[in-house]
Amino acid sequence: MKKIAFLGFLFLNLTVTAYAQDLVKYVNTLQGTNSRHELTYGNTYPTTALPFGMNTWTPQTGRNGDGWKYQYFKKTIRGFQQAHQCSSWTNDYAVFSFMPVAGKLTVNEEERATSFSHKNEIAAPHYYKVKLDNEITTEISPTERGAHLKFTFPERQKSYIVLDGYTKLSLVKIIPNERKIIGYVNNGHYVPENFKNYFIVVFDEPFVSYGTWDNQSNEIMPGDSMKEGKGAGAYIQFKAGVTVQAKVASSYISHEQAAITLKRELGKFKTFYQTKEAAKKIWNEHLGRILVEGGTEEEKATFYSCFFRASLFSRQFFEYDAQGEPYYYSAYDGKIYRGFMYTDTGFWDTFRAQFPLNALMYPTMHGRYMNALLAAYDQCGWLPSWSFPGEGGSMIGNHAISLFADAWVKGIRTFDTQKALKAYYHEATNKGPWGPANGRHGWKEYYQLGYVPYPEYGEATAKTLEYAYDDFCAYQLAKHTGSSFYEKIFERQMFNYKNVFNPATLFMEGKDSKGEWKPKFDPFEWGGPYTEGNAWHWLWSVFHDVNGLIGLLGGKEKFTTKLDSVFTEPPTVNTGSYGGMIHEMTEMVNAEMGQYAHGNQPIQHMVYLYNYASQPWKAQFHVRNIMNKLYNSTENGYPGDEDQGQTSSWYVLSALGFYSVCPGTSEYVIGSPVFEKATITLENGKKFVIKATNNSPKNCYIGATRLNGKNYTAKFLEHTDILKGGMIEFDMQSQPNLTVEQSLSDRPFSLSK
Ligand code: CA
Repeated sequence: MKKIAFLGFLFLNLTVTAYAQDLVKYVNTLQGTNSRHELTYGNTYPTTALPFGMNTWTPQTGRNGDGWKYQYFKKTIRGFQQAHQCSSWTNDYAVFSFMPVAGKLTVNEEERATSFSHKNEIAAPHYYKVKLDNEITTEISPTERGAHLKFTFPERQKSYIVLDGYTKLSLVKIIPNERKIIGYVNNGHYVPENFKNYFIVVFDEPFVSYGTWDNQSNEIMPGDSMKEGKGAGAYIQFKAGVTVQAKVASSYISHEQAAITLKRELGKFKTFYQTKEAAKKIWNEHLGRILVEGGTEEEKATFYSCFFRASLFSRQFFEYDAQGEPYYYSAYDGKIYRGFMYTDTGFWDTFRAQFPLNALMYPTMHGRYMNALLAAYDQCGWLPSWSFPGEGGSMIGNHAISLFADAWVKGIRTFDTQKALKAYYHEATNKGPWGPANGRHGWKEYYQLGYVPYPEYGEATAKTLEYAYDDFCAYQLAKHTGSSFYEKIFERQMFNYKNVFNPATLFMEGKDSKGEWKPKFDPFEWGGPYTEGNAWHWLWSVFHDVNGLIGLLGGKEKFTTKLDSVFTEPPTVNTGSYGGMIHEMTEMVNAEMGQYAHGNQPIQHMVYLYNYASQPWKAQFHVRNIMNKLYNSTENGYPGDEDQGQTSSWYVLSALGFYSVCPGTSEYVIGSPVFEKATITLENGKKFVIKATNNSPKNCYIGATRLNGKNYTAKFLEHTDILKGGMIEFDMQSQPNLTVEQSLSDRPFSLSK
C-alpha cells in the first residue's frame, strides 16, 4: 500500500467511520505477487474470486503450464485465466484463458502477450481491471463458479477474443447463433482419466467471424466451429472497437451443469456493473465479520488483504444442481456424489491456523468439511493430506486428524467420530501409494522404536514430531468421544517426540534404527532429518506438550533462553541435503532475525511459547515485531510462501491478539493485538470484542487484562468464551509487565504438568 501512496489518506480517515463496512477497499490482491523461484514474497497471484469460490480468475504473465501465473515484475500479460491452485509449486489444474487481441489476429501465447503497467491496473477481490498498452481494457468480476468479463477495444480496430485450451486435451464448440462457446479442458493433477472442466461462455455481442486453433501448431482454421485435441482453442471476431461482455461458468460434472450454474450465478445480472457490485457486497459482508478499528491505514490494508487471502481456502469443489442441491465430481474416483467437497489445500501448512480460523468464523462450512474428509476416505481409501484436487500425499504428517479433533473440541458435531478415528488408525498403520503424507512413511519403525529412524527415512525427525502431535489429536478425539481403544493406542505414542530429543545437544535430531545420533550435528544444517528447516526450527514442534519440552530443556529459564537464542543466533545457513540455497533459506537470511524463519511453517507458532514459561512479554514483543517487519499490503507483503491462507491466517489471528498454537485443543494463546478494537461477529450472531487501550507500536506490552469486566490472568483464551460473545480488554503499555507470575492454570494447555 506504500506504493499506492494514498493521496486520499486524510479523506480515507474521514470517510472510514461513515462507511465502516466498505472494507474491500483495503484489500490489495497484488499482495505477495512479486515472487520468483529463488525468493518469494508470498507466491500469490491477484486472485479475483468470491470467498471459498470454486474458480478464481487472474491475469497470466507466465507461459501456459508455468505455475508462476503472475509475477509482479513481468512486463506482459498473455491471458486472463480461470485458475484454482494457489501456488506455483503445486502448479494448477482445470485452466483455460481468454485474451483480447486487436488489429491482426494473433493466437500464439508469446505473440499475443501485451505489455502493461501497474498504474493501469486495479486489483481488488471483487474486481480486476487492466488497460493494456495496446489500449484494450479487460475487467473481471467473479461469482463462485463463474465470472463476468468485459473487454473494451480501441475504436475502429478489428476486435478478437482468443480462447486458449491450455496444456492438455481440450474441446471447443462455437455456437454462433447463440453467441456461445462450450468446451472442456482436462489439465489436472492426481485426477482420474475422466476429469474434465466443462465450461460455457456466452457473449453479449454477435460474432463477425470465428474459428478454431490449437496452441501446438498455432494454426488457425477460419470458419471451423469445433475442435478437440491437445490445446484446442477458439477465436471470435466482433465488430471493430466493440465493448463486449462475456459470462462464463464451469462445472466438473457436465456441460448441462455448467449451463445451470451460469444461469444460477450470473442469470440475474444484466450488466457487468451489477455482477461487480454483488461481488463487492459479498466481500464487504465477509470482511465485516472482523471489524478492526484504530491502527494505521497500512495496518488495516495488511489485515484485510490477509483476511481476504485466508478466506479463499479451502475451495468449494461442489456444485448446485437445478434443484439447488449440492453434489460433486470426486477427484478421487471420478464418480458423482451428493453433498459437499472441498479442495486446494495442504494440511501440513493449513492445520496450524487457516483451519482454526475457519473453525472459529465458519463452523457450518467446517462441519461440512469434516464429512468431506470422510467421503474422500471412502472414495480413495485414505484421508486427504494435500488436495490437488486429487490426492498427492505431499509434505509430511497425517494432519486430517488435527482438523477432526479441532472441530470436535470446538463444538462441531456433524461427523462420525468413530469413522474418523478408524480412518486415522488406518492412516497411522499403513503406507499409501502416493507421497510421504499418504498413510505414514516409516509407520512400522515409529510404532516399534518410538521414532522414525534417520537416515533410513528422509525428514524422519520432522515426521516423528508431527506423528506424535497427530497421535495426540487422535487421543484427544478418542478421549472426548469415549473411544478407549483408540485412546489407549495413541496415548502410548503421543510422547514420542521425546525419543528424538538429544540431551547432549538439546535439539531434536536424526537417530538411526540402532539408536545412534546422526554424526557431525550442526544446528544450522537444513534438510536431512528435517523438512524445509534445521534443528533451530524443528525443536518447537511439540504443540501438545510444551511443558514436556520445557522439562527436556531443563526448566523454564533454559527454555526461554533457548527461545531467545533463535533471534540472537547468526542467520547462518548450512544448505545440507538441499545442496544449495532454497528460497526458504534466503528468506530467513533476509529477515535479519537470526534463525527465525517465519517464511516457512515449522516455526510460526514459536514466539507464542514464551507464554508457557512465564515470560509472556517476550511473545508480545516478538509477535508485534514480526507483524510489523515481515508483513505489509504490497506485492512484497509476505516473508515467504503464503501457502493456502496459512501465513495470512497467522497474521489475522495474531493481529487480533491470539493464536492457535495447538489445534485439537480449545485454547488460543495470547499475543499482542495490533488494533485498538476488533469486533468479531460470529456465525451464532454473538459478538466478541477485543479492546486494547492505549495501543500503539511502542505500547505493545499487555498490562492488566479483563474478560467481561473481570480481572483475567490466563495467557490463553477459551473458544467457548469467544463463542458466548463478550469483551476482552487489554491495557497496553510501553514496558513489559514483569510482575505477572502465573499459576499453572494460567498457562496454556500442555499434556505434562
Ligand atoms: Ca511453506
